[in-house]
Amino acid sequence: MPCALCLQEAELRRSHVIPEFLYETLYDEKHRLQVLSIIPEQGNWREQKGLREKLLCDACEQKFSVWERYASLVLKGGIPLTVKQESNIVHISGLDYKRFKLFQLSVLWRAGISSLQFFEKIQLGKHTEELRRLLLEDNPGSPERYGCFMFGLKHNSEAFTGVIMQPGKVRLDGHIAYRFVFGGFLWAMLVSSHDLGAPLNKCTLSASGDTVLLLRNASDMDNLVAFSVELGQMGRAPSS
Ligand SMILES: [Zn+2]
Repeated sequence: MPCALCLQEAELRRSHVIPEFLYETLYDEKHRLQVLSIIPEQGNWREQKGLREKLLCDACEQKFSVWERYASLVLKGGIPLTVKQESNIVHISGLDYKRFKLFQLSVLWRAGISSLQFFEKIQLGKHTEELRRLLLEDNPGSPERYGCFMFGLKHNSEAFTGVIMQPGKVRLDGHIAYRFVFGGFLWAMLVSSHDLGAPLNKCTLSASGDTVLLLRNASDMDNLVAFSVELGQMGRAPSS
């Protein structure tokens, strides 16, 4: 089987679609993963070993692990960042655009090529090949393409780290985005052939490593329309 990234024939690894470190706090006492389905009739998914699939060769797996290690340090507080909170908006600066963006793109792309039922709603079409090329070349692309809105989820004022939710397609202010919930965040990843533009481009990771996080209650998660209105207002607000 060829590796999905470099297309070379190779022994494939059982790759995590959602990186392994994001599961660390998610296993329950029986070492099962809490996976919350957005389809009510299917109830909660129970996955014994995380969501894995044979996708990548060893070399490509290693390549992704560099970006994952960086993202893991960011999410666990192991990278010095400048963080400024104003009510439910958190301004973050000091991120490494290249590594953090490539991490986000790698999750989106893997979910897009996965044949696991859990990722069936991620249909990237021609963007699959575009993303593969960017990842293969270590190229994070323009901040205006494939940007990601990040929402920090809280539940009873605690971080909402216990759940991975089935990803789905959403519309944000006329843009198509794919929604992932893992690691205590909602990640809305934009997939479009057009640049994002103002004002929403103020809310995704910039080339200089700045981004904003919106803190929301996990129970409001379904209301992405309200999220995007808030984002629009935030983008229009004069930046300090
Ligand atoms: Zn490969």
